[in-house]
Amino acid sequence: MSAYVGKYAEELKATAAYIATPGKGILAADESTGTIGKRLSSIKVENVESNRQALRQLLFTAPDVHQYLSGVILFEETLFQKSDDGVLFAKLLQDHNVIPGIKVDKGVVDLAGTNGETTTQGLDGLAERCKKYYEAGARFAKWRAVLKIGPTEPSELAIQQNAQGLARYAIICQENGLVPIVEPEILVDGPHSIERCAYVTELVLAACYKALNEQHVLLEGSLLKPNMVTPGSDAPKVSPQVIAEHTVRALQRTVPPAVPGIVFLSGGQSEEEATVNLNAMNQLDTKKPWTLSFSFGRALQQTVLKTWAGKTENIPTAQAAFLKRCKANSEAVLGKYKGDATGGTGTESLHVKDYKNPSWTAHEGFTPEVSYFYLQVSVLRRT
Ligand code: 13P
Repeated sequence: MSAYVGKYAEELKATAAYIATPGKGILAADESTGTIGKRLSSIKVENVESNRQALRQLLFTAPDVHQYLSGVILFEETLFQKSDDGVLFAKLLQDHNVIPGIKVDKGVVDLAGTNGETTTQGLDGLAERCKKYYEAGARFAKWRAVLKIGPTEPSELAIQQNAQGLARYAIICQENGLVPIVEPEILVDGPHSIERCAYVTELVLAACYKALNEQHVLLEGSLLKPNMVTPGSDAPKVSPQVIAEHTVRALQRTVPPAVPGIVFLSGGQSEEEATVNLNAMNQLDTKKPWTLSFSFGRALQQTVLKTWAGKTENIPTAQAAFLKRCKANSEAVLGKYKGDATGGTGTESLHVKDYKNPSWTAHEGFTPEVSYFYLQVSVLRRT
């Protein structure tokens, strides 16, 4: 068995190593048109391209934040969007030494015969899309697989299908110059204990790395984006120290040291919880052969969104709130966060039940207005 040795091998290693620079992390700003619509509707802002551009511009042009970021994950629309000054967002980020990345999956569909388990779509035409994204300046990609914990879940079928999908995606990305972020998210929903989450996380990650090896993925040119190991959302909470110990042990048992960085998703934790848990991991005195960093979506953007509220006059304060969170998470990657970034909506839970984006991404070919209609229908269906 040999890992990918094609023309991009050295570049992939360099890109992945740069993203895993200690003290830096990733902003996940790759919400699909449907998902960002949900965020915008929470602040009563219409889901039209100009508003999506305004929010992303606010984030990408925030003064002083770039020192804490090595990458930003974009949705396709944003990769080809420009700032008000006419600069492509991808170029704007590159000029600040922040690598643009791209979400390449097409959302999840149900796996027949399971109790609501899913697999991720998007392999058809992926190589061509990767080529186009590389030309546009993207150097890494993201694919989100979703698993859940239940009495008999995740099933062997869900574990295997999602591991296979992630591995196929990863090697296709590498053949086209994009570092794959492998994201097998185990949802927090449920009353399960932290021990059960640890067991399931180990099972899922072991299956993923077996599949990645079988597909000859160059691990040095890849990154992992896992959930933290926590109790279920309906179970009593435990301390950051306990979360850190369970998470790092699960990773030690399953993630090869060849992987340069592990960039956690926030998965509905509050902004402050996500930062404090990451900090606790980096303070642990144990073997950690990878950089442990962040690739947060909700936990970097919640206070920003609420502070902005769609109003131009609020942009400077919203950007200041974003800077505060980026700095706090950067300190957490170094195990040096002192807990001084609380305030705003920082301690509010960001948990969204059954966070699978079931039908949103399926409608992305439509106009925003039509997507918004489907979003409303899917929200109604779920409530
Ligand atoms: P959260 O940090 O909001 O979980 O999102 C990260 C992400 O990119 C999920 O795919």
